[in-house]
Amino acid sequence: GAIIREVEEKSVAIDKGLYKGVWVYIEQVNGSIRNVSHELLGEGRKLADAMGQELAAVLIGQNVSNLTKEIFASGADKIYVVEGPEFRHYSTDGYTITFTDLINTYRPSVILMGATNDGRDLGPRVACRVGTGLTADCTNLDIDEATGLVAWTRPAFGGNIMATILCPDHRPQMGTIRPKVFKRPDQDFSRTGEVIQVASKVQPGDIRTKLIEVIQGSTVACNLEEAEFIVAGGRGICKPENFKLIEELAAVLGGAVGASRAAVDAGWIPALNQVGQTGKTVGPKVYIACGISGAIQHIAGMSSADIVIAINKDPDAPIFKMADYGIVGDALEVIPALIAEFKKI
Ligand code: FAD
Repeated sequence: GAIIREVEEKSVAIDKGLYKGVWVYIEQVNGSIRNVSHELLGEGRKLADAMGQELAAVLIGQNVSNLTKEIFASGADKIYVVEGPEFRHYSTDGYTITFTDLINTYRPSVILMGATNDGRDLGPRVACRVGTGLTADCTNLDIDEATGLVAWTRPAFGGNIMATILCPDHRPQMGTIRPKVFKRPDQDFSRTGEVIQVASKVQPGDIRTKLIEVIQGSTVACNLEEAEFIVAGGRGICKPENFKLIEELAAVLGGAVGASRAAVDAGWIPALNQVGQTGKTVGPKVYIACGISGAIQHIAGMSSADIVIAINKDPDAPIFKMADYGIVGDALEVIPALIAEFKKI
């Protein structure tokens, strides 16, 4: 109740003219910038140019100033940097307080964030605190000609329609965008810009959680969104033990392991590996779908793969309609044969 009242109060009649510029939230893990932030800098540059405004980046972390060169090279005009030991690891409280303060002070018109675990955690909280809306999980961005507003596109109703959402009454216009929907821009290291150091406003006790330990998921799962090769298993893999075959093929190719929701729901593999509408969006060079039927919700997460290879024992499986190469057969026989062949290369 209190939060809704707070949003309603903040929503009354803001002066939209005070909000200027496009911002990209830079996500960094242990001092390296995630690909999605570069992708958004590339797209943010286009939006900023179309709006005739500047592109700024927000960089929060510990000892992260050395990353500014890379951010300018990907297209930013200006970078707001907030540093401190309290930002060594991502925390919901520390980052929400800091990002909210930056928005209230500098008033951007548009904010782009990655639809990653951190972006999905931070985006809605910050939007709520500054009294605006958030279009989550976008797959495209444009400028609406009639209004000049950002047109945020995202799948809706189970992926059956693509909804375009405008934010006419509030500022900033905020959204999270899935990784891999935009290409990483070519970097120009001759570009420079203004770095604005902002002092942290986080007080002792503000961060209510304590990080005890970071437990890495299986290495084959971690880089799903950035992997060039993905081998994914579905219900047709039949048993959890058989996922070892999927892992082995992925390892031989130097790739990552994906899964359909059916395989995740069966408890054969962690949810971290799920690809699709409620899982991850991936864009590898090659996606090998093993024992996956090709439901629309799965396709939603992997249709931007350059090449799709499907292995399914049913020749009428829908996955074959979108696959570039299809192998009709028992995945439990085909995968070992592929492993043996790839090992020869
Ligand atoms: P099935 O549809 O059961 O297909 C199994 C396939 O394996 C069949 O085609 C069969 O012919 C084949 N097969 C069986 N045995 C073998 C064998 N030995 N060798 C080779 N092939 C074999 N799904 C996702 O994947 N990701 C999502 O993010 C997602 N989000 C969803 C969100 C919503 C709101 C809803 C309603 C559903 C969502 N789903 C999602 C579920 C989706 O609709 C499907 O149920 C799911 O993708 C099916 O998984 P599957 O292809 O592994 O299983």
